[in-house]
Amino acid sequence: MTTKEQKEIFEHQMLLAKEKGSKPISQHSTYTIKDKTTPNLRKKFLEEIKKTKETGKERGFHLCIEKDGKLSAGNTCTGDECGISFQQPNLSCQERKVQGNFHTHPYLAEVRKLYNITFKGASDKLLSATVESFLKEKGFTPTMPSHKDAIDAILGKCANKVKGTTCIGTDLDMNKVECWTIKNMDDGDCIRALMEKITPKEEDGYQTLPHDWVRPLFDKEMIELKSTKKNYKFYI
Ligand SMILES: [Zn+2]
Repeated sequence: MTTKEQKEIFEHQMLLAKEKGSKPISQHSTYTIKDKTTPNLRKKFLEEIKKTKETGKERGFHLCIEKDGKLSAGNTCTGDECGISFQQPNLSCQERKVQGNFHTHPYLAEVRKLYNITFKGASDKLLSATVESFLKEKGFTPTMPSHKDAIDAILGKCANKVKGTTCIGTDLDMNKVECWTIKNMDDGDCIRALMEKITPKEEDGYQTLPHDWVRPLFDKEMIELKSTKKNYKFYI
């Protein structure tokens, strides 16, 4: 299929959705993740970030909703396993409802591995600063979800499998987890996300910046792992 054909299909689908009248799937949720995190969950975030730094592998788990509304960690998965198990949140959270998932982006470990950086002077601090400025140039902050992460949250929500949260931790910053939760979305967004998923236009790594159209769909929060008082909500 050519790009032109893909674009035509997409535009046709968007038009159909508009004609039917897009039904809002979620609007202005007041749900916030930071209020639902427990000290145990924050400890678990930190553990997985530390393991990512040690092993260089992505790690993650589902965020399960407990009876009291607080979030807890489902089964942990590593590397390629994550792709498979994130499709089946019910296996990880069993009978509980699923908020979304948390996973790590191993930037620092990847750079060390990719360039085999073992030379003296290549301290974590120096490398982190270098990688961070590289990300900044691309418009990224270290804990920002990728476009794929955002699309997966949207599609999970469209399929009614998850509430639509994606939380990211990174070995560049051991103290923060950033969570994006869908606040408003309609079925036109579901179609657009689906079209992108089945006809990916670019390399879908974790270094693809969230596209402009997905950003306003999410509520964004930063969770401080070592302190409960400094948690704040921010908007981009
Ligand atoms: Zn990711």
